Amino acid sequence: MIILIEKLQEKMMNKNLLLSVVVPVYNEEEVIEEFNRRLVNTFTKTDIKYEVIYVNDGSNGRTGKILRKIADSAKNIRLIELSRNFGHQIAVTAGLDYSSGEIVVVIDADLQDPPEIILQMIDLWRNGYKVVYGVRKKRKENIFKRMAYFSFYRLLRSFSKIPIPLDSGDFSLMDRQVVNILVTMPERNRFVRGLRSWAGFKQIGIEYERDERFAGKSKYSLSKLFLLASDGIINFSITPVNMISNIGLFLFVSSIPAAIFLIIWRISNFKILGHMPSDVQGFTTLAVLLLFFSGVQLLSVGIIGQYIGRIYDESKQRPKYIVENEMGFPKSKNDLVFGKQSGTQEIKTPGEIL
Ligand code: UDP
Ligand code: MG
Repeated sequence: MIILIEKLQEKMMNKNLLLSVVVPVYNEEEVIEEFNRRLVNTFTKTDIKYEVIYVNDGSNGRTGKILRKIADSAKNIRLIELSRNFGHQIAVTAGLDYSSGEIVVVIDADLQDPPEIILQMIDLWRNGYKVVYGVRKKRKENIFKRMAYFSFYRLLRSFSKIPIPLDSGDFSLMDRQVVNILVTMPERNRFVRGLRSWAGFKQIGIEYERDERFAGKSKYSLSKLFLLASDGIINFSITPVNMISNIGLFLFVSSIPAAIFLIIWRISNFKILGHMPSDVQGFTTLAVLLLFFSGVQLLSVGIIGQYIGRIYDESKQRPKYIVENEMGFPKSKNDLVFGKQSGTQEIKTPGEIL
């Protein structure tokens, strides 16, 4: 009986659930039909109401035609066609902008992210998590790419002030509240998984094995991957600038004892590795000046970098904070009630008090 009630409750919850699935697509003509079949199959046995939003990121070849056919085949499948290739992250952003579900899933079109995992993600969302992100347990890609990813995620983690989870990509489920924050962020060089972590809220990872591509080649060329990595690191930390300042400071400070040493060496004129300062005229002066000024220069560049870093941070115009819930506030400020806990306090005019 209890099981029956639970099942009924689950059904009722599913009924009201509106899910958007955002799929960025770039030249995936060999994959996209199979992907759509597996995605739709995932939901056939459930009562989940869903929409699929394909974002055609300026594909060449047959991809566009196939996508139009798929979008025509069902009322809940939609298509956004971008005017050219804007890149994966922007395609995802466009999909989020157009989504209207209470929860939104972002998934790759190449079947590396198994659509079946979405159901487990929804379960976790029901347990109160606002973001459920996929964590790749095992990558089935070549060793070079695996090593590059491995070091990138660890570097990003050590550089960034925001705890961006290791080995998590864009495959994720997000609550409407989180999506609304992402879509209002004005930054152009977007690193969606970083922004997602930045938003906060209750987040959880779900492990899955990342399959090989169903067909076709990765659309991330080495240069695109490098750009994504630098967006990740530079958008989320000013550690590289701090490194310049630190090296500059180190050189500047160490130039003073080095200068003292060089002067003593010149005066006592002893041999180091078979040479003495008097061998070359002007050596000491040049060495001292070089050390001192390269330290000063690097330090100055670092300090200027610190200012630029702050200008950069400000110019991104991310919201200063995000409120998850509000309680006890009326819709309009005019209806604000001030008073004791047990009721409203009457505010008397001075005339009445007298
Ligand atoms: N993609 C895109 N625009 C691009 C590159 C990729 O929309 O400029 C899509 C691609 O079709 C796929 C997803 O983004 O659905 C991930 O790309 P890919 O599989 O090539 O990346 P990888 O898995 O190799 O990191
Ligand atoms: Mg892929």
